[in-house]
Amino acid sequence: MLPMSGTLKVSSWSWILVGITEKVGSVRTAHFPRFRAIHDRLVICPRRVFLTVALRKRTIITPSPPTWCGVMPLETKHRILLLYASQSGQAKAIAEEIAETADGKGFVADIYCVSQMEQFNLEKERAPVVIISSTTGVGEVPDTARKFAQELNSDLPANFYSHMKYAVLALGDSNYSHFANGGKIIDKCLQQLGAQHFYATGYADDGVGLELVVEPWIEGLWDALNELCKGQKEEINSIENILAMNDVSTADRSSELADIELLKLEANVPPTAKDSVISSVGVEQNPIVAGFQECCQVPTWVQSEKPLSESALNIPSLPVEYLNVEFQESTEQVYQQECFSLAPGVTLFQVPVTKAISLTREDAVKTALFLELDISKTSMMYEPGDAFSVICPNNKSEVEELIQRLGLANKKDHVVEISIIPNNKKKGAHLPEYIPKKSTLQFILTWCLEIRSVPKKACLRALAEHTSDSFEKRRLQELSSRQGAADYTRYMRDHNICLLDILRALPSCHPPLSLLLEHLPKLQVRSYSAASSPKYHPGKLHFVFNIVEFPSCPEKPVDRRGVCTGWLAQQVTPMLQNCENETIIGDCLSNGFELPQASIFSRQNPFFHLPAVTAAPIIMVGPGTGVAPFIGFLQHRQKQKEENPDSVFGETWLFYGCRHHDRDYLFRNELKGFQDNGTLTQLKVCFSRDLPKDTTAGNPKYVQHLLHLFAEDVTKMLLDEKGYFYVCGDGKNMAKDVASSLTQIVSEKLGVDTLVAMKILADLREEKRYLQDVWS
Ligand code: FAD
Repeated sequence: MLPMSGTLKVSSWSWILVGITEKVGSVRTAHFPRFRAIHDRLVICPRRVFLTVALRKRTIITPSPPTWCGVMPLETKHRILLLYASQSGQAKAIAEEIAETADGKGFVADIYCVSQMEQFNLEKERAPVVIISSTTGVGEVPDTARKFAQELNSDLPANFYSHMKYAVLALGDSNYSHFANGGKIIDKCLQQLGAQHFYATGYADDGVGLELVVEPWIEGLWDALNELCKGQKEEINSIENILAMNDVSTADRSSELADIELLKLEANVPPTAKDSVISSVGVEQNPIVAGFQECCQVPTWVQSEKPLSESALNIPSLPVEYLNVEFQESTEQVYQQECFSLAPGVTLFQVPVTKAISLTREDAVKTALFLELDISKTSMMYEPGDAFSVICPNNKSEVEELIQRLGLANKKDHVVEISIIPNNKKKGAHLPEYIPKKSTLQFILTWCLEIRSVPKKACLRALAEHTSDSFEKRRLQELSSRQGAADYTRYMRDHNICLLDILRALPSCHPPLSLLLEHLPKLQVRSYSAASSPKYHPGKLHFVFNIVEFPSCPEKPVDRRGVCTGWLAQQVTPMLQNCENETIIGDCLSNGFELPQASIFSRQNPFFHLPAVTAAPIIMVGPGTGVAPFIGFLQHRQKQKEENPDSVFGETWLFYGCRHHDRDYLFRNELKGFQDNGTLTQLKVCFSRDLPKDTTAGNPKYVQHLLHLFAEDVTKMLLDEKGYFYVCGDGKNMAKDVASSLTQIVSEKLGVDTLVAMKILADLREEKRYLQDVWS
């Protein structure tokens, strides 16, 4: 047998192992610059090189050629190009999971963000391409994919990518209109350019749990890739036929091939199942948890139930550890990071909050706050309809608790040096770019990581390795397993269980900081629509938001607020408290109160603006905080009218809705003012929880019902007078309901069927006359 030690893994391309009858030293290597000797009668070379050489062998190997005695594909791992287009890190995490699993499935994945266009070349790409894409905004590709999508949409010939075999996994949330549209856009462009699916597009729905589609889709992907690559394997095998035409004695071949076969066994990493199997043996009721349950509220999900508690589990393979963490006690003054390092590539402004008003009564279901930012000392510009993003920190006490729980209280001001573990097996391992160099532990957990995110199954799997108690470990394994998928969705996802919840409930779980850095996504900025016009309020930027509240529940016995809205509310509490309804800033300042500051940057919404032609009618639909941009529109319109008294202005309608007239009717006085001065032609309002006073008025509950009541006017303005239709606010239900009401209205008024009405609305969208600005 040939003296081989270890396994041969050559992961960059498919390599060929070639047995030769003469010693390697006698081969005229000038002809084989890319051959590498691994034994005195064995060489390896890239498959492509071998194909060329083998096919031209008679002409190039002279005068005394070595004789090929056998050939085999050494590298059974086929390359795939794995691209991701991520907005918040979901698509990236899925792509990374695929890349890590690839090895065990007999593939190697080159993984890139689609924005790294200099790293891959689809025009020349012959390997299968797998694309994972999220969706953002109103069915748009993620910001990172804009350039890529533009490129696909440029004037390329119809068959430009006809050589390309690809598969797409499109992520989205079916609660929003244009479900999974980011992936659909990319898919459509590739189809138009002649690329061919080797596997059906997957549509994963965050509304019900991405994993419901993602996991089976990934499983099926391997089968599809194997099927696709079978053809390529056959191509390699046919080389043996070519060799058979050469003068190789059968005896020589068979003796050498015997060795090669043995080598093949060693050289191949057998395709391990993605999942390893864990049996349920040895799991008993944990006395710690039992005691815990008696003395305090233990979340329901901690308790594993039959049949899951007794079943064998298929758990994901352990994620590769690739980050190394060291703490540096700085003798100099600790370098305190600024928020500016967190948003590279944008112009960030730090501005004071100069006004804070609660727009809702205390007994309202949700508390809406109105804040004013002073941007007069910045170069920030915006138009009504634009939004801006806020860099917000995690909740201070949660960060403190996390640091304590990690056992790092004495290191919170230490600088964290993060490096890549040398020779780790993680595909494309890189340092998290959203953690600035020389950050302290406290800074990282406060500003860089989304510590509230629901840990992915890979993270649960990794946590299990750092959990000493067998019951707790088993529970983490269950939640990460295929059999525990329903529990994962029901407990983890639906209740937004975060890392801190897990660490609270499972006392023997002690992950290292590196695990958090490897698994927690980047802390996202939060965006808000401007609720003002700079024409009306020069130097000011207004916005309005509901404080997001998550009341405690058996799964998570702790009250929480949204990361950003909770932080903003906390920041302005003294302003709200000091000055009842309206904040008089002078009073606050004279009371020694320092104005809170926010780091913001502009997020333009290029189409969601007032029409350039002022005579065009506008219909605005904005219930709840969705009214925000329309306040800006109306302020702007009022100024335009004052400045151009002779111009023609089209009708201006606003459909607004809230729960109660007296509790949460936002901007009531301002809207009445706009109506009184003629800026707003019609204000139509409905209250979903007030008993109807006028039962003859059709009893509208939601804005879509109001639209039906005024269907005649809506169609006239929109279709006959070439008006503009704007929708803003809750993207989950409202925008979809409004769209279907409008479809029905158009269908009825024009006497066309639903499909035709949908086409009319699609055309309006195309013409940028049906515009949406929706959020969750
Ligand atoms: P987060 O902490 O991010 O929570 C948000 C969601 O995550 C929750 O609704 C819930 O589904 C889930 N979640 C997180 N933690 C938990 C938990 N512990 N338990 C249960 N569920 C949980 N919002 C406005 O109010 N006004 C605006 O004008 C506005 N304009 C926007 C414009 C744009 C372009 C975009 C993209 C968004 C806009 N938003 C607006 C939404 C806003 O950006 C934030 O998403 C919102 O304020 C919530 O942020 P948060 O950090 O407080 O909540």
